[in-house]
Amino acid sequence: MNVTIIGGGPAGLMAAEAASAAGAQVDLYDGMASVGRKFLLAGKGGLNLTHSEITEKFLSRYGARRAQIAPLLASFGPVAVRAWARGLGIETFVGSSGRVFPTDLKAAPLLRAWLRRLRLAGVRFHMRHRWSGWDAQGALCFATPEGGRTVQSDAVVLALGGGSWPKLGSDAAWVPLLIARGVQIVPLQPANCGFNVGWTEHFRTKFAGQPVKSVAIVVRNAAGAESWHPGEFVITETGVEGGVIYAVSASLRDDILAKGTATLYLDLAPDRDVPRLTHDLSRPRGKRTMATHLQRQAHIEGVKAGLLREVVSKEGFVDPARLAASIKALPLRLVAPRPLEEAISTAGGVPFNALDERLMIRALPGLFCAGEMLDWEAPTGGYLLTACFASGRVAGAGAVTWLNKRGTRGAV
Ligand SMILES: Cc1cc2nc3c(=O)[nH]c(=O)nc-3n(C[C@H](O)[C@H](O)[C@H](O)COP(=O)(O)OP(=O)(O)OC[C@H]3O[C@@H](n4cnc5c(N)ncnc54)[C@H](O)[C@@H]3O)c2cc1C
Repeated sequence: MNVTIIGGGPAGLMAAEAASAAGAQVDLYDGMASVGRKFLLAGKGGLNLTHSEITEKFLSRYGARRAQIAPLLASFGPVAVRAWARGLGIETFVGSSGRVFPTDLKAAPLLRAWLRRLRLAGVRFHMRHRWSGWDAQGALCFATPEGGRTVQSDAVVLALGGGSWPKLGSDAAWVPLLIARGVQIVPLQPANCGFNVGWTEHFRTKFAGQPVKSVAIVVRNAAGAESWHPGEFVITETGVEGGVIYAVSASLRDDILAKGTATLYLDLAPDRDVPRLTHDLSRPRGKRTMATHLQRQAHIEGVKAGLLREVVSKEGFVDPARLAASIKALPLRLVAPRPLEEAISTAGGVPFNALDERLMIRALPGLFCAGEMLDWEAPTGGYLLTACFASGRVAGAGAVTWLNKRGTRGAV
């Protein structure tokens, strides 16, 4: 019994592991010269494997796809991820934010151990095999350095990733291939992404590249309800990116899609309230400059002072109460998300209503999908890798179950 996996990211490797453990001969193909490129890149940020928060909270991170992701995580959730890493000789720890990392904060040792185990289990790797669809006989077509190659396979798991960071191998070229087979793909969009603001030349040249620390972002939803997100972010040439921006990026992106722009509110002094700021800023300024006054009375300086000047008019600095209100809720108008290629992850993809519970495309028996190419999204925090692992396992094991059932029923 042979299972073909296309895509050697975390989802594809996990599908290979599950299919192999269930008794299949597994052949894994990837367009790149080596597997797990994005996984290794994630290692540069410490490799946040999963999160230690309670199940209810963990599941809530998948938002509108919670109901579809929950059954996948039921058999391979955060606890299983940590046990799996330990099985590869990689201990993990829980950081102060509850995020889970390998003790050495590296992806390479884990990937090396994983590939060793997969090879020992008999998984065969075929690198530089770029999948380009099917031929008239239904065989899989690959472009290789030696020319075109076709492969016949009864059970195939596609784990081709989303469309971010295409130079690492996931360029979403699978989208038109599946559309041509009648699968309605939800358009891919950037997730965990930065945004364009359109800074003035003065602000851009002075502050691009600078981190904005100890701030909070207030986001107001359509119903007017506010959510408060402490953290930090970075000023870019075109706008904003990084930690706390990614955390709120899905709703901001959807707002821009619906209304053309989105506004977030920056709290530049999370440890002081408006009355305190108003009181302090009302102290006589004397001959001191406004910059010194702001720094002494409100601890607003550097890039924070720059942001204030970028948004608030000259008159807005005169009245302490008005200035205090601006410091606590500085409106930042976002005009566009940064392109998909720059995003951490991808929203959209193969819709769950096209899939059965084993992640097989119902209309294309024997073709399974896993990982980021499915239509779900989640913030950073280990939720992406956890769901990629879990969906890979379900699809890999599902392919074997399907082949076994087909064997007893006869070919379909
Ligand atoms: C900078 C960065 C940091 C990140 N950090 C974290 C983190 O700390 N924690 C976390 O949970 N997530 C993190 N992520 C996200 C996480 O890496 C991805 O969600 C995850 O790698 C997706 O896994 P996947 O297997 O679905 O796809 P991918 O990892 O993208 O793998 C897909 C594979 O398919 C191959 N492929 C694609 N098309 C073809 C084709 N036509 N033919 C053959 N092969 C093909 C690619 O070469 C690739 O090897 C990070 C992402 C980025 C960009």
